[in-house]
Amino acid sequence: MIDVDGLRKSFGDNEVLKGIDFSVPAGSVTVILGPSGSGKTTILRSLNALDRPDSGIVRVADVTIDFGGPYGKADIARYRRQSAMVFQNHNLFPHKTVLENIIEGPVIVQKRPRADAVAEAERLLADVGLTGKRDDHPDQLSGGQQQRVGIVRALALQPKVMLFDEPTSALDPELVGDVLKVLKDLAAQGWTMVVVTHEIRFARQVADQVIFVDDGVVCERGTAAQVIDEPAEDRTRQFLRRLL
Ligand code: ATP
Repeated sequence: MIDVDGLRKSFGDNEVLKGIDFSVPAGSVTVILGPSGSGKTTILRSLNALDRPDSGIVRVADVTIDFGGPYGKADIARYRRQSAMVFQNHNLFPHKTVLENIIEGPVIVQKRPRADAVAEAERLLADVGLTGKRDDHPDQLSGGQQQRVGIVRALALQPKVMLFDEPTSALDPELVGDVLKVLKDLAAQGWTMVVVTHEIRFARQVADQVIFVDDGVVCERGTAAQVIDEPAEDRTRQFLRRLL
């Protein structure tokens, strides 16, 4: 579902991604671990073209782009539609209701019929335990509820791949579990997901693949049992020691 081959990205003189390779099979969950500043967010943003890689060939679902070669706006638009991203801070519009936040993408950007988008939004809200919240504004919800709305807003775009960038790290500890449960449910439903997180327990329970990124390269990859419980690399061991 995702193939990343030779992904490179610099910001000015700072080479952040130094040739990243990995694949994510359809219907599987990949967790990306790594120290602060190692390039995890830049990898995710590259998969959604929020950051434009300097080079590398990336396939996301039905669209492949060679970022080193010529590509156009229409290619990027198609590439971007393959995935949807959930951020650390949900970035909901504060002046819009939950429902308006969710249906904006489907109705305004994707031109889907409003009635369909509303029905889909209500179904998704029920799935994440937020029935009855459609007419609330974000500030009437807890941080965990807001983040679940953020997840629904991404799902409503009907992507092939869901990308999560530290979806629980801005939450109070008691709210983390509800959001992780939604991620577990999505994994069980067969979503293809890439999750940047420091939640090691979640990685152990849900990840089919764990990738440890350090200093812009994939240092180690494997199952959670391999990478977390029996890391082969010193850098992975040191990182996990600090985290656990
Ligand atoms: P964290 O765990 O702290 O979120 P990360 O592993 O996700 O870190 P990135 O956010 O990908 O790391 O950042 C990697 C490097 O790229 C950092 O040195 C960061 O300062 C730099 N960087 C990221 N985005 C930009 C940008 N838009 N402009 C300049 N530098 C950037």
